[in-house]
Order: sequence, then C-alpha cells, then structure tokens
Amino acid sequence: MMKVIVVGTGYVGLVTGTCLAEIGHRVICIDKDEMKIEKLKRGISPIYEAHLEDMICRNIKEQRLSFSTDMKEVAEDTQVIFIAVGTPSLEDGDVDLSQVEEVAREIGKSLVSYGVIVNKSTVPVGSCVRVAQIIRQNLRKDISFDVVSNPEFLREGTAVYDTFHGDRIVIGSRSKKAVEVLRELYKPFHQKFFITNPESAELIKYASNAFLATKISFINEMANLCEKTGGDIRAVAEGMGMDQRIGNKFLQAGVGFGGACFPKDVKGLLKTGEKYGYDFKIIRQTLAVNEGQKQKPLRILEENIADWKGIKVGILGLAFKPGTDDVREAPALQIIKDLRGKGAQIRVYDPVANASMQSVLQFPITYCNNPYDAVTDCDAVILLTEWPEFQELNLRKIRRLMKRTIFIDGRNVFASEAMGEKGFDYYPMGIGSEE
Ligand code: NAD
Repeated sequence: MMKVIVVGTGYVGLVTGTCLAEIGHRVICIDKDEMKIEKLKRGISPIYEAHLEDMICRNIKEQRLSFSTDMKEVAEDTQVIFIAVGTPSLEDGDVDLSQVEEVAREIGKSLVSYGVIVNKSTVPVGSCVRVAQIIRQNLRKDISFDVVSNPEFLREGTAVYDTFHGDRIVIGSRSKKAVEVLRELYKPFHQKFFITNPESAELIKYASNAFLATKISFINEMANLCEKTGGDIRAVAEGMGMDQRIGNKFLQAGVGFGGACFPKDVKGLLKTGEKYGYDFKIIRQTLAVNEGQKQKPLRILEENIADWKGIKVGILGLAFKPGTDDVREAPALQIIKDLRGKGAQIRVYDPVANASMQSVLQFPITYCNNPYDAVTDCDAVILLTEWPEFQELNLRKIRRLMKRTIFIDGRNVFASEAMGEKGFDYYPMGIGSEE
C-alpha cells in the first residue's frame, strides 16, 4: 500500500485515483475546483463514467479515498504524486501547459521528502524535463525527486474498465528507483509494463492518438469514395478489418472524431513537428478530412432544403461518443453552430450530455427529455452519437412525429433498406446507391 496524491480530478485523475484506491492504496485527490471537491466528498461524481460513482463511495467509506483542494496534503509519507490536469489547445493548436506548470510549482513548494512525480497529463515531448526544472526551482535544496512520464490511454465511457484492463502501462524514466516505485504501485493491475525514456513515452501518447485519428480519417475518405462508386463502407471496413495487420477497430465511418483528446493531440503533434522544423503531412490531412466530415450533414441538408425559413432540425446524440457526457470538440458542437448559421430551429436529445452541451453553448436551443420530443415537427433529423438506446427507437413513431422525412445517420446505426421502407429519405455515411 502506498500513499498517493492525484492532482486534477477530471476524467483521468478521478478515475486513476479511484482505481488506485480500489486496489488498496491510500489516495488523496486534489483539485482547485472547490465545487467539484465538495461534491466528491459527498460521493457525487462530477462526471458520468460507468461504475465510477459506486467505486468512489465505497473507497471513501473504507477510508482509502479522500478529496481536498489543498496541496498541503503532501506529507512525509507521500510516495507518488500524479499530475492529471488539463492540457488544452491554444488558439494556434499548440499545447497549453499552464495547468501542468502551475501544479509543478505547487509540488515544488509542497514536497517534504523524496517523491515520484508522475506526469499523466498528455504533454509534448520534453515536458518531463520542464516539469523537473520547475519543481527544482521551487523546492528545498536537500530534497530529491524523480519525474516520470506515464501517459494515459483510458477511453472515456469505459474509463474504469480500461484502467483495470489496459493493453500496457508506459513508463518513461531514466531513474531505476522511480520505475520500481511505479511497478510496485501498479502491480495489482497485472498489466504489461513498457519501460522507456521520458521523451519516447511522451511521444508514444501523441503517436497513438494521431494514428487512431488517422485511421478514422482514412476510413471516412474511403466512405466518401464508396458513396460515389456504389460501395458500402461497412462491408469495406469489415473486409479490411479481417486482416489482422489492420484490425477492425477505429474503422467506423461517420461525421468525424471529436472529444477532449484526438483533435487537440493531433494539433499538438503537428505543432511539435513545426517546432522541430518537420512538416507532419499525414496528420495535417487527418485534421483537414475530419473538418470536412463534420460539414457533411449541412451539405446534405443544403442539397435538400431550398428555403431555410422555419426549418426545424432534431439532433439525436451530443456527446462525442456513447458512454460519456463529454461534448468537448464533439462534432455536434460544429453542426449545431452551422445549423444556427442557417437560421434553423434546433431541438436536441442526448441520454446524458444535454447539461454539458447547455454549459458550453453560448446560445439557446431546445433541450428535450426524450428522442421523440427532439424529432417532433422536424424537417430533418441528424443522429450524431451511436448510443445503444437509439437502436431501440420506434422508427415508425419517429417518422410519424417528423414534418419531413430527411434522416441523416451520422454513425450508420440503421439499415438503409429498413429506413427506406419506413418512408425516410435516409442518408447514411459511405453507402453508395446501386445505380
Ligand atoms: P479535465 O479537464 O477533465 O480535468 C482536469 C482537472 O484538473 C480539472 O478538474 C481542473 O479543475 C483540475 N486542475 C487544473 N489546474 C489545477 C491545479 N493547479 N490544481 C488542481 N487541480 C487543477 O481533464 P482530463 O480529461 O481528465 O485530462 C487530463 C489530462 O489527461 C489531459 O492532458 C488529457 O489530454 C489527458 N488524457 C485525457 C483522456 C480523456 O479521455 N479525457 C485520456 C487520456 C489522456
């Protein structure tokens, strides 16, 4: 059992801290957001993530997990301090490291004995060195420490599962002592360790996300070609995915990727390339293709709607993917803004993300409590998140409630024939017609 501090109680910090408590460590999660900490102390999770709230409550009760806003919690017996704060994009696509740097300063001022500082935030190559410099500048001279890169690969929506069943734990460090501390910390997870230097570990995270994002943009370009040639992207992807060198994951065509990680990390890697005088051409196109995909629903509507006066559009799904309430960089954000630009009235429904969309959108739209309400009187419906509950929709009822028949399936949830039979003008992604 170790004493661990996790700074930042977002998707990564809160899940990591809670799972470490679950395997027996004593964990204090720290955040500067007092409201979050107040909620957490009462066992209320500020984010939606399967199984998380139960686990938080259980570990609070068993006194392995506590919450605080104060870095003074760092004490003699603290062995590991995680940095798990946000690293958002700056206007120009570069990575905003201000939260990480602020935490590094606070750690420097708070550390009272040797500790392993673990950087779990996604940070550009060279950040371990930078964090160590900042800590050193603020630390008592007689105290030693190590900074380790330990990028996180959990997926929102399955974050708890992923923490217990990750493919690998990447540790970037030149300190044998620090590596041993982390091996011990993570031992109960029974996962493969991949030990390398900090620079490689930092790059592994960006390379992984940029590669997956590129896979999505690639399949979306194939989908666009399918539409022109009579191909069906679902069949193309299935046929491709049977090749084990390719694999069947991340081959679903749609309205593009979003979320707090892929867009910002791809931009971040592009910026790193620029700083080192390297033009990373593939990922530049990955981003460009993704922007085009997000505009697809509007292009389809423009082809079908001549006069936008009084047009109502229903949107099913706001989160960037199922299983989360996160709408950061979700395609829904761009699509809602585009529709508003056209003067459309917008009705939306998401099983869990209505509130998070409401907190980021600067203008009013109609938030509905169920999918049927969202499509009522609409000229068109756009499905943007493949929540399992949408597969159970009563499509005849949807059709009856709509004013017109345009149904854009941004995630290929339904079958073309069935949608045609029910009277929809159905627009899936990447499914060409036979003629
Ligand atoms: P988040 O925005 O959900 O949470 C960050 C938290 O840090 C917030 O609660 C914020 O209040 C807190 N914070 C900021 N500055 C602080 C400070 N000085 N002291 C204490 N708390 C502070 O972020 P997230 O989604 O958990 O991501 C964290 C990092 O992990 C990012 O670098 C991200 O790229 C990376 N990551 C995220 C995911 C994901 O799926 N969300 C997956 C892998 C890696």
